[in-house]
Amino acid sequence: MKVSVVKETAPGERRVALVPEAVAKLRAAGLDILVESGAGDRAWHTDDSYAEAGAAIVSRADALAADVVLMVSRPDAAALSSFRSGQVVIGLLAPLADPDLTDALARSGVTELSMDMIPRTLPRAQPMDALSSQANIAGYKAALLGAAEYGRFFPLLITAAGTARPAKVLVLGTGVAGLQAIGTARRLGALVSAYDVRPETRTEAESVGATFIELTSVGPASGEGGYARALTEDERMAQQQELAGHIARHDVVITTAQVPGRRPPLLVTEDALKSMAAGSVIVDMGASALGGNVAGSVPGETVLTENGVTIIGASALPSSMAAASSAMYARNVSALLLYLVKDGELVLDRDDELQAGVIVTSGGSVVHPALAPPAAAGMPAASAGLQAPPDDQSTGDQSTQAEPGAAQTSPGTGEEGTARELPGAAG
Ligand code: NAD
Repeated sequence: MKVSVVKETAPGERRVALVPEAVAKLRAAGLDILVESGAGDRAWHTDDSYAEAGAAIVSRADALAADVVLMVSRPDAAALSSFRSGQVVIGLLAPLADPDLTDALARSGVTELSMDMIPRTLPRAQPMDALSSQANIAGYKAALLGAAEYGRFFPLLITAAGTARPAKVLVLGTGVAGLQAIGTARRLGALVSAYDVRPETRTEAESVGATFIELTSVGPASGEGGYARALTEDERMAQQQELAGHIARHDVVITTAQVPGRRPPLLVTEDALKSMAAGSVIVDMGASALGGNVAGSVPGETVLTENGVTIIGASALPSSMAAASSAMYARNVSALLLYLVKDGELVLDRDDELQAGVIVTSGGSVVHPALAPPAAAGMPAASAGLQAPPDDQSTGDQSTQAEPGAAQTSPGTGEEGTARELPGAAG
């Protein structure tokens, strides 16, 4: 079976789906590995290094024609139109946020396996958890960006020229990225506080060195599958208001609440920004085209407010550390492939809970329960993750809604195997 790695085409994407180290392991499992020439260049892996590991270096057309095509981000239009029925495409394809891509793949008869749909709570899925591996890198880089932009020291420094007090860092959202941001800022010597709507994250935040902040105006908001539940409008406003007081007392704020395909929760309002001292820095990891965790943040850009607060719209951090993120992603993808391959062939079985979580399209249909038609699933479309995020903050600000992984455990997400037939679907 031919498994290929294509060169990424998304703007600014530097990662590559397999690194040379992973090639040998996959070849030992009986797979022929094809690598598009130049695929690893931006992650510092040459064609020669893949060839030495046993891969064949091929043209883009040959790579796109393989039985299994590996990628990081979504394929471009030309790649999409080249796919044929029976091929398997594996990547971070965000089917909840990008249902058009999923529909197109289903129509072509392509089997879509999306790395961001891995059921993260299954112990055997942990080596495949690309959301966590990439979030770890993003959290680390966010802390470094904050430190680099901040015009003072992170650690306490006592020198002949004076004493520098340690920076006060606040991390909002203590999931995978937030915990890594806390640990990194602590290692740089900052005093770190952290907050999350899920109070059970307190122990984890404290274990990596943060002081956990509890808000008195908002109660616990834990939802299904380890994610937060949606806040009510009143809770949201109370949260923003009370957080503003804490934000004003910090030098660097790192916000990490991201909701794939949904508008991230607004945690730092314009009023909160105005209360911050000149020279403060915010790194908004929630920055996206849908809006960010911070009022006025722009993905991929650094904005300076009138009162001297720098807001970094940190939207593509894993790609900015392409060597590390590619190595980890390659391990995630390899673990999934090795799990699925028997005697050199891919054997898919949607009766297996892990596979049911990751297989999005099959046999010309969309088959993932979270993308099943609302009527078939007996639930509102928004709960099935089919709707675009709203413009306001009223329904789209919490990570409980149609989260990858969480969809598996949400009530009413439809029966496993519920298929959405598409007009003109192949296969
Ligand atoms: P995420 O990136 O979706 O969100 C980051 C954090 O933001 C979450 O902790 C969430 O509670 C928080 N958040 C959301 N809305 C907020 C708000 N309005 N105010 C403050 N905080 C808010 O989350 P993630 O990093 O992908 O992780 C989500 C959960 O999944 C975590 O509990 C994590 O430990 C869990 N997880 C479990 C496993 C496993 O069991 N093996 C693996 C990976 C992740």
